[in-house]
Amino acid sequence: MEKRVRLRFAPSPTGGLHMGGVRTALFCYLFAKKHGGDFILRIEDTDQTRYVNGAEEYIINSLKWCGIEPNEGVGFGDGPHAPYRQSERKELGIYKKYADQLIAAGHAYYAFDTSEELDAMRKRLEAAKVVAPQYNAVTRQTMRNSLTLSEDEVKKLMDAGTPYVIRLKVPRNEEIRFHDIIRGWVVVNSSQVDDKVLLKSDGMPTYHLAHIVDDIEMQVSHAVRGEEWLPSAPSHVLIYRYLGLEDKMPLLAHLPLILKPDGNGKLSKRDKSGLPMFPLNWYDERTKESYVGYRESGFFPEAFINMLALLGWNPGGNQEIMSKEELINLFSFERVNKSGAKFDPEKTKWFNQQYLRQKSDAELATLFAPILEEKLKGENQKSKEFIENVCRLIKEKAHFVNEFWDNSVYFFNSPTSYDVDVLKKRLNEQTGLFIKEIASAFSSLSSFTAAETEATFKATAEKLGLGAGQVMQLFRVSISGVGGGPALFEIVELLGKDEIIKRLNAFLKSNNI
Ligand code: GLU
Repeated sequence: MEKRVRLRFAPSPTGGLHMGGVRTALFCYLFAKKHGGDFILRIEDTDQTRYVNGAEEYIINSLKWCGIEPNEGVGFGDGPHAPYRQSERKELGIYKKYADQLIAAGHAYYAFDTSEELDAMRKRLEAAKVVAPQYNAVTRQTMRNSLTLSEDEVKKLMDAGTPYVIRLKVPRNEEIRFHDIIRGWVVVNSSQVDDKVLLKSDGMPTYHLAHIVDDIEMQVSHAVRGEEWLPSAPSHVLIYRYLGLEDKMPLLAHLPLILKPDGNGKLSKRDKSGLPMFPLNWYDERTKESYVGYRESGFFPEAFINMLALLGWNPGGNQEIMSKEELINLFSFERVNKSGAKFDPEKTKWFNQQYLRQKSDAELATLFAPILEEKLKGENQKSKEFIENVCRLIKEKAHFVNEFWDNSVYFFNSPTSYDVDVLKKRLNEQTGLFIKEIASAFSSLSSFTAAETEATFKATAEKLGLGAGQVMQLFRVSISGVGGGPALFEIVELLGKDEIIKRLNAFLKSNNI
């Protein structure tokens, strides 16, 4: 029987989940859904010194906002392998059992070295010009561990409650081969692999042991994570092998880095491109730093995940705008690139614009409504239909709904000032007279559509010997206060006869015409 597809997203609650983490979750989600499998959220909180309050909740809320919800795990109703928080699993003795098994098989050992002793070792090796000092097959022979001490000594130390860790016993000079779905075969010599700590002195497992135990127990089929974990994969392969579980090892996929917009290095959470690096607003208690989120910046979650999906994944073809269902259908790890993916801020905004354009005027009006309520504070209320029409007129130029107000304020409030540059350039005796004329021509119109007002506008200009181009922008300023905006006569029609005439009269008065 084929193994059921089960992917886990396994973040450590050491801070806000940045967009790189969301992309990992997204790829896991897309693959799991494509294959009718499970998407699991496991919280890897074994490093208590790096635990950040609120981080777990933030992760859960971010996944919810993005619409990539796990069907199993912390915050999502748990599931058959509960608990899904490693600190709670540790209490059940799950990890210790595996560590003991490795000790019993001679593939792991106890190490009693104090941090001073470890420091001294590092200094000694550095002085001997060793490039990457590490605890390994050679150096462990000079350290205090159950391989160098007698059985008696080990027992004595343990009885006395001396703190110890359990380390993986990595062989010297052996070839370790493993397959990565994105990178193909990877071959590493074990001399480059250190004797990783598996269980810490407080009994907590390290990430290396814990994630393996959990991936096995939770029957994970694919372990998908960032490229930064690739160097520790050889140790993981050895752990699986020594536990006799190599055949149950999940398939591995290490995702490429997300790079800065100029391609120069890894995208940092303090990137200066002006776009958020986090899905939701995030305040880091420890560093007292705040970060703005995509949600709060006015991005649609669909646009955000569409953009993220294409950071490092290339489905082939030219289609860029893809719904979640399309992403699910097309997704495969084989089409994820090995090389880093450049983050493109302009393109990111473009994605939002495309999604904005796809929305109906009614949907946009609903999204705009709370902003209007806040700005208008109950004054100048307009009908739903009016607001939908405003959305129809202004949406082409906008990237975000939160730009709507600035671009449409004059639909709700009469102008209180007029663009001075336009007045300076366009207002003179003759064009002033035109505004007077057009006000009176408009008042005798019985039907006030865009087509009719435009025809009247042109005829009036002609009558005064003016080209429409000479008075168009001035007229726009007289009714809206600003020199640019959507189709002029559409604005005229929407504001309606009474309002337009009122505004033209106010303009004449304010400019002493
Ligand atoms: N806890 C690890 C992290 O924070 C998970 C790595 C993995 O997926 O194995 O990235």
